[in-house]
Amino acid sequence: MSALFISDLHLTEERPEANERFIEFLEGKARAADALYILGDFFEYWIGDDDLEEPFNAVIAGLLRGLTRHGTPLYLMHGNRDFLIGERFCAATGAQLLQDPTVHEVQGVKTLLAHGDTLCTDDVDYQNWRRIARAEAWQREFLAKPRAERRSAIQGMREKSKEVIQAKPAEIMDVSQAAVVQAMRSHAVSRLVHGHTHRPGRHCLTLEGRPAERWVLPDWYGRGGYLEIGRGGAPKLVRF
Ligand code: MN
Repeated sequence: MSALFISDLHLTEERPEANERFIEFLEGKARAADALYILGDFFEYWIGDDDLEEPFNAVIAGLLRGLTRHGTPLYLMHGNRDFLIGERFCAATGAQLLQDPTVHEVQGVKTLLAHGDTLCTDDVDYQNWRRIARAEAWQREFLAKPRAERRSAIQGMREKSKEVIQAKPAEIMDVSQAAVVQAMRSHAVSRLVHGHTHRPGRHCLTLEGRPAERWVLPDWYGRGGYLEIGRGGAPKLVRF
């Protein structure tokens, strides 16, 4: 039995391969797990929980509900694309929303969980936008708009953000090492798991003279995959 971690699936009706892979993962591997953690950007975008009525979203929510009904605990953290997931979504799926960051004891190890965007502190424009979009006032105003308007606003933002991302140097799109060290130190952990950067792998560092590790989850634009932490075992990054 093990704890499984996924993020950056970016689920959308437009990418059926990822949806199929996810369904297979959810109905197979995840059912046998101790817990499933989704660390953000589960959906390509989320315009508000009233969009659960949309058939694709209803199907995905139903699949998650199937997992939690089966008895597998499901933890969900917001990403930068689906931070509007709220209580209604959690009630519909049985997911427990995690704050970003959260320290969870995973198989006996204090583990810091984050989506990863807060660690990309060199991307000042993004951090400014994040502060605005995560404020209650912005969200209240946005969620009050009709669904069609929200959908086109988000699609517009995505198009704009693609251009901005292409113009940015690759380094600032990755985590800042100083931010990683600070986060791990302040939470007194030697293990961090996050997604967001689409640079999967294990990164070793030394904290207070002791070995520490940062695991980055794979995105599902490509093959996809997950991190598996077994009881007493070392974490294992599995690619499909
Ligand atoms: Mn992200």
